[in-house]
Amino acid sequence: MTIPIDADDLLQRFLSYVQIDTRSDPRSQTTPSTPKQWVLVRKLEGELKELGLADVRVTEYGYVLATLPATSSKANIPRIALLAHLDTAQSCSGLAVPIVHRNYQGQPLALPRDPNVVLTVDNEPGLKDKLGEDVITASGDSLLGADDKAGVAAVMAAVRYLVQHPDVARGVVRICFNPDEEIGRGSEKISLDELAADFAYTFDADGLGMVNYETFSADRAVLKITGVAAHPGWAKGVMVNALKLAGKFLAALPKDASPEHTTSREGFVHPDDMHGDAGEVTIELLVRDFELDGLAAKRKIIEDLVEQLKAEEPRARFELVFKAQYRNMRYWLEKDFRPVDYAMEAIQRCGIKPYFEAIRGGTDGSRLTERGLPTPNMFCGFHDVHSLREWVTLQDMVKAAEAAVRLVALWAEKA
Ligand SMILES: [Zn+2]
Repeated sequence: MTIPIDADDLLQRFLSYVQIDTRSDPRSQTTPSTPKQWVLVRKLEGELKELGLADVRVTEYGYVLATLPATSSKANIPRIALLAHLDTAQSCSGLAVPIVHRNYQGQPLALPRDPNVVLTVDNEPGLKDKLGEDVITASGDSLLGADDKAGVAAVMAAVRYLVQHPDVARGVVRICFNPDEEIGRGSEKISLDELAADFAYTFDADGLGMVNYETFSADRAVLKITGVAAHPGWAKGVMVNALKLAGKFLAALPKDASPEHTTSREGFVHPDDMHGDAGEVTIELLVRDFELDGLAAKRKIIEDLVEQLKAEEPRARFELVFKAQYRNMRYWLEKDFRPVDYAMEAIQRCGIKPYFEAIRGGTDGSRLTERGLPTPNMFCGFHDVHSLREWVTLQDMVKAAEAAVRLVALWAEKA
C-alpha cells in the first residue's frame, strides 16, 4: 500500500500556520493564554469543516475537536485521537516569515533578517541527512514555529488523505488541536469525555522516526522564607535577612544535579524563580527525574537543606510546599504497550527506522496518559525548536502524515 500524501497542500497549510503568531504566555490566567491563538483556532476549525468533517467543534477554551467516522465494519476498533498543539514557545518572536530552501545541497543557509543566524551542517548536524529535500526556516528574527505547527500540518494532511480515501479501512478517528502546550497547560482544559478516544498520539517530537513513551516525572517546589524585619540602623541582634538565607539555600543545592550538569536519564533540582526582599523571599524550584524514587530523593535533598537552615536560624520561618506536575508516561504505557508498538510498526511501514528517546521534559500526553488516555508522542520532523535556527523539511512532515495514516489503518487491521 502506498500513501501518496499531497505535499503541496501540506506545505501551503504549514506556511499559512507559521505566519500566524500564536505565542502562549505563562503569566496569563486565561485559556488560551493569549487571544492571538484564537486566529489559528478559527482557521483550523474552518479547514476541518472544508474537508467535510461533520462535528467540528471549538470549546470555550480554544480546543478544536472533530471526528472522522469509521470506514471499517469491524466492531471493537479502538478510537484513536491525533493531537497537536497550535501555540509556540516564548523564547523568540512567534511571527515567522518562512523561507523554503528547495532542493537543499548542503550549503550554509543564511537567514536574511539577521546576518548572525546561519544554519550549517556543523551547527545543525541533522541537515546532513536532508540533501535534496526542501528545508524550511524562518528569516532569522523569529522561531519558525514548526513546534508544533509541523504536527498540526501533518495531522491535517493525514485527515485530508483519510477523507479522500475511504478505502483505507479505519475505526473512528478523533482530532484535537490544542492551545498552551508550551506553558504546560495543553491538556488542562479538556476532558477525556470530550476527547472521546481509547488511545491518542501527540505529533510533537523531533526527527524522522522518533517515538517517545517516556517523559520526566516532575514536581514544583515553592519555598517561602520569612526573616525578621528591622530598621537597618537599629537592626543589631534583631534583623534576620531572608535574602541572605535564600542565598545560603541556593549555594547549598547540589551542583551536579542541575540542568547545566545533567543529560540523558539524569534528573535535577533547578531554582527557576526567586522574588522578595530582606523581609520575605519566595524561591520556586523544578524537581525532575525519570523515576519516582529519584524524584523522592531530590525532594529529600531540599527538605534536608531547609531543616538545616531552620536549625541554624530558628527566628526565621520556612514554608516548603511541593506540587506534583506530571509523571513519566511509561508507568502507564508499559501496562499495555500496543500504542507504542503500533507507532513503531506504522513508522517502519513508511520505510523509516523508528527509534525511542526519553524526553527531558513533559508533553501534553504525560498528563493525558496519567489521567487514563494512553498518549505516546510521535515525530513530525522539527529540529532545534525554540530557537532562531528552527527548521523542518517538507519531506519529513509528509512522512509524519503518512505515519499517521498508517497508524490509523494499523489499529483497524489489528482489531
Ligand atoms: Zn511542542
